[in-house]
Amino acid sequence: MSDQLDALRAQLDDVNLKLLELINERGKIVQKIGEVKSKSGQKRFDPVRERKMLDIIAEHNKGPFDTDTLQHLFKQIFQLSLGLQEDDNRKALLVSRKKKPEDTIVDLKGIKIGNGEQHLITGPCSVESYEQVREVAEAMKAQGLKLLRGGAFKPRTSPYDFQGLGKEGLEILKRVAEELDMVVISEVMNPNDVEMACEYIDVIQIGARNMQNFDLLKEVGGTDKPVLLKRGLSATIDEFVKAAEYILAKGNGNVMLCERGIRTYERATRNTLDISAVPILKQETHLPVLVDVTHSTGRRDLLLPTAKAAFAIGADAIMAEVHPDPAVALSDSAQQMDISQFNDFVQSLRDAGLYKL
Ligand code: PEP
Ligand code: MN
Repeated sequence: MSDQLDALRAQLDDVNLKLLELINERGKIVQKIGEVKSKSGQKRFDPVRERKMLDIIAEHNKGPFDTDTLQHLFKQIFQLSLGLQEDDNRKALLVSRKKKPEDTIVDLKGIKIGNGEQHLITGPCSVESYEQVREVAEAMKAQGLKLLRGGAFKPRTSPYDFQGLGKEGLEILKRVAEELDMVVISEVMNPNDVEMACEYIDVIQIGARNMQNFDLLKEVGGTDKPVLLKRGLSATIDEFVKAAEYILAKGNGNVMLCERGIRTYERATRNTLDISAVPILKQETHLPVLVDVTHSTGRRDLLLPTAKAAFAIGADAIMAEVHPDPAVALSDSAQQMDISQFNDFVQSLRDAGLYKL
């Protein structure tokens, strides 16, 4: 009994080795076909040819496997063989570390993001008036901060909520930035506004709701402005990385990725800050990685602890919202810091040895 089993197993091992040899032999032929096709400019995948191969299998199948099962198996072999025709370098995305092992450093008017120093990006949720932006910018300046964020085009859930000042908001940002020598980051939602906005701002922000607005990604990819790309509300890391790839594929390599929390079942926070996305994105891509503690938590009391965690885990910059009087802010009233809370926030990070600039 056991002798018979051993004999059958030995036969099986033999067949496995023959199959292994045949599959690899097949792979080599497919690679040669790939070379011939690439010389003549033909497409790798040929559905007519594949159908013919599947028909031949059906014609010759004598069982015990049924034809559907075998065709399924062969389709997998076909697909893996096609993969052999691509070299590893071509398979790697432009954003990936495989393609570019060294860190990308994005230069924001002399401030380098991604070189190991850690920065703070702050400012109001929405630009509401010149005085409001100027007051926040002065407080930032007093702390030695130059990276000013502020929304002029606001992506609001309800059409009846404040939609932002639009171009007038950009004008205010530019005026304050010129007066106080600051760098302006602001969201653009419409591909048609990109060119106009570039005259006012230094960094184009693409918001969470537009992470997969492919026309917008392509449009900013065609500029040479640094881009701050936020992770979509329910985007996987893979989808996030591929959205960034759209921008690089159009020629703009100055992209910063911003984790801003994702939607989960948890309601204690506005979103769930996916802190492990930071080291994952840093391992898999060469781009700077930022963390927005305001929109991820939606809670003022969590801004400091999450900022500490983000710096400790290696974020290149943290984004947080500051308003002179959050209680009357036209957006995100519950989570913006006022000026004195902002000063405490920066000081606490410095005291913890986490913010060194
Ligand atoms: C913002 O930063 O102003 C904003 C709207 O954030 P998000 O796109 O991440 O929701
Ligand atoms: Mn906001």
